[in-house]
Amino acid sequence: MSELSYPYEAPASQALFDRAAAVTPGGVNSPVRAFRAVGGTPRFMVSGSGPYLTDADGREYVDLVCSWGPMILGHAHPEVIAAVQEAVARGTSFGTPGEGEVALAEEMIARVAPLEQVRLVSSGTEATMSAIRLARGFTRRTKVVKFAGCYHGHVDSLLAAAGSGVATFALPDTPGVTGAQAGDTIVLPYNDLDAVREAFRAHPGEIACVITEASPGNMGVVPPAEGFNQGLKDLCSADGALYISDEVMTGFRTSRAGWFGVDGVVPDLMTFGKVMGGGFPAAAFGGRADVMAHLAPAGPVYQAGTLSGNPVATAAGLAQLRLLDDAAYAKVDAVSKEIQGLVTEALAKEGVAHRLQTASNMFSVFFTDRPVRNYEDAKAQESFRFTAFFHAMLAHGVYLPPSSFESWFVSTAHDERALQKIADALPAAARAAAEATA
Ligand code: PLP
Repeated sequence: MSELSYPYEAPASQALFDRAAAVTPGGVNSPVRAFRAVGGTPRFMVSGSGPYLTDADGREYVDLVCSWGPMILGHAHPEVIAAVQEAVARGTSFGTPGEGEVALAEEMIARVAPLEQVRLVSSGTEATMSAIRLARGFTRRTKVVKFAGCYHGHVDSLLAAAGSGVATFALPDTPGVTGAQAGDTIVLPYNDLDAVREAFRAHPGEIACVITEASPGNMGVVPPAEGFNQGLKDLCSADGALYISDEVMTGFRTSRAGWFGVDGVVPDLMTFGKVMGGGFPAAAFGGRADVMAHLAPAGPVYQAGTLSGNPVATAAGLAQLRLLDDAAYAKVDAVSKEIQGLVTEALAKEGVAHRLQTASNMFSVFFTDRPVRNYEDAKAQESFRFTAFFHAMLAHGVYLPPSSFESWFVSTAHDERALQKIADALPAAARAAAEATA
């Protein structure tokens, strides 16, 4: 598709993108922002308020990305902003321990029963990287099992067959990752317990951990089949491996206790990011106290960070978590259900084959008539229909993730006006999807 074929222009964003491309590879600081999968000009946003984003051309969008998950209360929530302003005024980084990080850890532990201790870091990638290192240090084993289509950040050993941007761009094994790093990673099809059983049979006593998204959202939303997560936990326990549940995306979003609050399977280690940072760089890993005791300075496994537990980030995260009570989750769930209904209705009306898959309030649309249980199924969808759908929604002021391999996210701030704008955009988008050709 050439840019001229888009039904609208974004000259200010285009000018910024041209400037950005001169100083930053591909013009973005994280690949999925670049619109490469759908074409066109990435929107440079200048402000956000509640469910809305405003771009450099002054156009307003209903935001169904929510910064890829963190903004569960919407943008610029007054109480989060007040907490940040209060923290900033006291100084931005001390390089010492502070009360805010203790309070954030206490809040997380109070919500998520398997968390006995947590260590704060600055990104989800750091959390999964550190959890894997700890699992290897604790078990004195090297191999890691991951699932195709699951994304755990850009950790060297976890990029094999990853979801999110790696899936969006259909990247092969990433240059820069050594054979040794990739060689210790066993990649298996998602939702296939027999494959996991077979891996443990083939490598007895060698597997340090199995890492999985608690409920995957990085190949689109593909929830675990009944019993899958418990089966992983049982296989790990039987072999002496650790079960790591990556809740960077689902944590404090899919319920007040994340996906653990939905399926109750008890991991050995868990990873968090996104919602717990309130829009700032804060993330964490944690779990069993006997495993966490192996981390420096309590134990020998080294892990550290200049900005870990940053006072501004922890203030934002704590303020956001404290606002996330049962009523807030009920609101997010209700908003999500309403949008799901609108999307299904519009696509069905145009006769577009699709599957809307959900994991609590996370959801995504696959343009296929078959259930999507793993990455192979996800790749079999008609992504060209998503491209047409995406651009029609964008033209009508609704900002979707610019890839068919991503979850959509909503917030407590999505109000009647925002829902109406989505409802108004959908008929043309469904028609565009119906008329799209490969
Ligand atoms: N794990 C999961 C499940 C994620 O969805 C992501 C990011 O999308 C990460 C880890 C990496 O987090 P970050 O982008 O903060 O490094």
